Amino acid sequence: MKLIKNALAFAFSVLLFLQVSAQDIKVVYKTEVEKLAKNKEVQDAFAYILDIDGQTISDMITLTEIPAPSFEEAAKGLVFAEMLRKAGADSVWIDEAGNVIALRKGKKSTKTIVIDAHLDTVFPIETDVTVKQKGDTLYAPGIADANRSLAMVVALVKTLEQKKIRTDHDLWFVGSVGEEGLGDLKGMKHLFREGGNKIDAFIAIDGGDIEGIVNGGIGSLRYRVTFKGSGGHSYGAFGIGNPHNALANTIAGFVPKADSFSKEGIRTTYSVSVLGGGTSVNSIPYESWMLVDMRSESQERLQGINKLFLESIEEGLQKENLIVKRGEPLTVEIENVGDRPSGLLDADHPLIQQSMAVANYLTGKQPRLSSSSTNSNVPFSLGIPAVTIGRGGQAGGGHSLDEWFLNKDGHLGLQHALLLILSQGGM
Ligand SMILES: [Zn+2]
Repeated sequence: MKLIKNALAFAFSVLLFLQVSAQDIKVVYKTEVEKLAKNKEVQDAFAYILDIDGQTISDMITLTEIPAPSFEEAAKGLVFAEMLRKAGADSVWIDEAGNVIALRKGKKSTKTIVIDAHLDTVFPIETDVTVKQKGDTLYAPGIADANRSLAMVVALVKTLEQKKIRTDHDLWFVGSVGEEGLGDLKGMKHLFREGGNKIDAFIAIDGGDIEGIVNGGIGSLRYRVTFKGSGGHSYGAFGIGNPHNALANTIAGFVPKADSFSKEGIRTTYSVSVLGGGTSVNSIPYESWMLVDMRSESQERLQGINKLFLESIEEGLQKENLIVKRGEPLTVEIENVGDRPSGLLDADHPLIQQSMAVANYLTGKQPRLSSSSTNSNVPFSLGIPAVTIGRGGQAGGGHSLDEWFLNKDGHLGLQHALLLILSQGGM
């Protein structure tokens, strides 16, 4: 249990929201959204979303109860694919990475708009994912993040199909793999690979309330660094290289440099997060390792702190090897265990303006822009318009065993997604 909790705490840090800001919505987008929302077909679709509300909740429960840690999403992917087929998608397939993709063809098909929810959760396969109800609140690990989003994707396809709404552009409804933790945005890296299908805009449903709109991706680099030596008796083998010393040298060298680097410019963070190695008090260890996490909204800044870190490892190793009196010098193994690119889409971009205008229209509240680590990081980094929007309803305990979802005005989340898709997809 302790291990599970530690893993969850690690993964939860991914969702850290930073630099929240309010932004003006241009009148032209407000007018456009109002006009679209008053369209007869859209009004019918809004009503239909409410009609199928019970089924959407039931789909969410079905999906939640299929365990799907990152790299083990296949079983849930099959069920999700079947739901999309039944909802009336034109075709459904699973790509080489394991992403489930449902196509709804457009009238013109000149552009492709992706609507994404991730299949994976942060919970190990043996976690009890049975949904429990207390009052109106539903409890289960992963129920909101992102099984609610997946059920929304199914409901959106169903609504477009039943209300016979055809957009101008092609819509791809995606259930993606590897969004969480060490999944390292695997599904997105495949979807946006070189030579892949051209994607013109990307909408991820992976946030909380509707007013929270993510227009930036915080990039991260993560390493597991292991210093290695022969190991030996603390007295008898004295004089051989000690991997702990090299690791301590590295941290001692890196931190002052990283500290001055992080004091100015775009927020850039670093954390030596986990340490390990050694066998007993009277032994020189044969290895010493650490897990390190560095983040920034700017790719350039991330590369800057990365350079300082890699230099410090080399210096830390050399410093210990200089005092080695016997045996082989120490070596180091540097393993990159996470690489999430960063990027930002301007608040004035039509996709962000439309997202804010729709949220404002439905809730009457001022939307908030923020940066986070979501699937949108990949398109952000490639300069492809992207946004991460909320699920609506109420939820809490994300990435914990006590995660919950309350379907309070949950339909607004779906109406928000639908309006945004229609704004982007063209009607
Ligand atoms: Zn998520």
